[in-house]
Amino acid sequence: MTGTVHTSALRGRAEIDLGALRGNVRALRARLAPGAGLMAVVKSDAYGHGALPCARAALDAGALWLGTATPHEALALRDAGIRAPILCWLWTPGDPWREGIEAGLDMSVSAMWALREVTRAAREAGRTARIQLKADTGLGRNGCQPADWPELVAAARAAEVAGTVRVTGLWSHFACADEPGHPSTAAQLDVFHELVAYAEKAGIEPEVRHIANSPAALTLPESHFDLVRTGIALYGISPSCELGSSAEFGLRPVMTLTASVALVKRVPEGHGVSYGHRYRTPAETTLGLIPLGYADGVPRHASGKGPVLVGGEVRRVAGRIAMDQFVVDLGTGPDADAVREGAPAVLFGPGDRGEPTAADWAEAADTIAYEIVTRIGPRVPRVYVDGADGQEEGVGGDGRGAGR
Ligand SMILES: *Cc1c(COP(=O)(O)O)cnc(C)c1O
Repeated sequence: MTGTVHTSALRGRAEIDLGALRGNVRALRARLAPGAGLMAVVKSDAYGHGALPCARAALDAGALWLGTATPHEALALRDAGIRAPILCWLWTPGDPWREGIEAGLDMSVSAMWALREVTRAAREAGRTARIQLKADTGLGRNGCQPADWPELVAAARAAEVAGTVRVTGLWSHFACADEPGHPSTAAQLDVFHELVAYAEKAGIEPEVRHIANSPAALTLPESHFDLVRTGIALYGISPSCELGSSAEFGLRPVMTLTASVALVKRVPEGHGVSYGHRYRTPAETTLGLIPLGYADGVPRHASGKGPVLVGGEVRRVAGRIAMDQFVVDLGTGPDADAVREGAPAVLFGPGDRGEPTAADWAEAADTIAYEIVTRIGPRVPRVYVDGADGQEEGVGGDGRGAGR
């Protein structure tokens, strides 16, 4: 904790309710098919919530694995003392395979180049690398194509026999699990069953087989296998409103983004507001200045639309969102007159105290709630609280997270 963090906490803060996160882990675990465990996906600084505090809270609540995209994210968790199994899946040539082996990471391999790099690093380290083979069952992103699977499986099995690797997992990722009934989901499951059977027949004995993300964890028990990899649901956000709301799944949003009103002033009718004058006051009114902008992750696309709870009412952003600030028209009612500098303005939160949600901002910015929380920038301190007792647990500046 530093003085600078406290000063900026007055401007804006993202409160992270670790009690809510633990509750979400428990709610998700209650939905798992028998025999399946939960991987807490904490990539990209836990979707903007702070990787380390969220990883610890998720493990406390019974998550068995952690998942990250890059090896650097996984190594940072190990450096901080996390001992749980960690899978990291987005590798690029030249990445730190040897460090990953020495840190005991599970490392995803989607192609022959990666198998070559990891076996070379294992020989150099004199240790067996834990790898998980990733299949592209239809997403068309990372993963090994079914046509290339026999070559990758044979080479991985040979490396196992040579002692350089141990294949700890077989896995894949869905494309459209957030669209109920989308035919690609069942097709991907069929392909996954086939590719797993092929690898097992070739002698691979994985500890875990997994394909489910949050939407599949919530709605498709036949996809749970040994593990589900949940990201967005951990943070209390529904993967899509088509599937159901957070509340319907028993999830509670973890992040509340609040700012302090920086300036309140009277302006005459017809006054242009913010760059480009995309808003003009329809009458004499009171404007409130909110000191967060697109540099903080408030999406400029939500200019004129983003909702903010201030002075007891949800108001819309007036005019353009700028880099560091935006304006709301408070009107002239008694609620508006009561708003003073320093008053709280809640951009989003769980939604049960009248405030908007990240899903509302996603709609205003024509994006998904994943992007809204993940892009909250490093200039916004994360303040860790525990909803169970409302106690502050610590402040993490620069998006790194701290406390606990
Ligand atoms: C991000 C990610 C997840 C988590 O997805 P959610 O929809 O947030 O649950 C799971 N697996 C992989 C490979 C991912 O990249």
